[in-house]
Amino acid sequence: MNCDRCGADAVMHAAYSGAHLCESHFRESVERRVRRRVREDDLLPDDATPEDPERWVIGLSGGKDSVVLATILDETFAEDPRVEMVALSIHEGIEGYRDESLAACEELTADLEMRHEVVGYEDELGVRMDDVVEDDPENMAACAYCGVFRRDLLETYAEDLGADKLLTGHNLDDEAQTALMNFLEGDVAQMAKHFDASIGPFPDRRESEHFVPRAKPLRDVPEKEVALYCHLRDLPSHMAECPHASEAYRGEIQQLLLDMEERHPGVRHSIMAGYEELSGVLAGEYREDGDNSPDLSPCERCGSKTARNVCRKCELVAAIDTG
Ligand code: SF4
Repeated sequence: MNCDRCGADAVMHAAYSGAHLCESHFRESVERRVRRRVREDDLLPDDATPEDPERWVIGLSGGKDSVVLATILDETFAEDPRVEMVALSIHEGIEGYRDESLAACEELTADLEMRHEVVGYEDELGVRMDDVVEDDPENMAACAYCGVFRRDLLETYAEDLGADKLLTGHNLDDEAQTALMNFLEGDVAQMAKHFDASIGPFPDRRESEHFVPRAKPLRDVPEKEVALYCHLRDLPSHMAECPHASEAYRGEIQQLLLDMEERHPGVRHSIMAGYEELSGVLAGEYREDGDNSPDLSPCERCGSKTARNVCRKCELVAAIDTG
């Protein structure tokens, strides 16, 4: 097939839009979607100036999503004095897997001349995921521990690095899965929180005084297209799957959505369009009820913000230490 725009050989066909695109028009289309999302979510506020720039911390795992996000943001904003970018990687203590992906992070940030910080579970929390999986004191999936630790470290370090925003590389498939999981679990409160936490345009959110606001500028681009973009540009990335990956339920939803997309192209886009609108309405309702922003205070042990005396991360670390 030929590119709809220039007639050159097409490298992709998007069934949801009917488009056939050559390499150069495909790359342009991915970049345009990311830039449009940055604009529509108002990531760069009018009051950012060269004297008082906006600082974005980019969660960089070395996987294709965060690598593509960091590359496009760098190419868009590296020369803009109103923006400073820092890449932040987390080492979970997973032998082989994370060492290789950190090598990709280092190569990329050296190419982009972007500041890069690495923090590890072992240094910060005294635990390694390889050991946690062995001991498993709470009888939980690996990702249930890992997600709590990662969220805590990303939040703590984004704050320490003076971030105005924490940007992550979630793609369209990731977000449509999360939306559908919230629907299937009937978790209306979570839908409302999702809007204020990471998917609402900044002027429409009520930002929490407790957390660095998050954003997901890659969330209009399907996973396959992110992978193709990464491959066509030969970006340094690490494609292997984590040996402890255990989100079985998300895996089922992922497969369900892929099957649906095959039969009904565009279903991920329509789920997200409806979900974003609905979560915005719900966020407004919950704010009026005062339920959207629970009282948080410092954890007795580590000082992280929590609705309890001791935060979940400290509880899990204690269980691992005594397990
Ligand atoms: Fe952690 Fe699970 Fe991701 Fe592996 S797949 S890095 S265990 S969250």
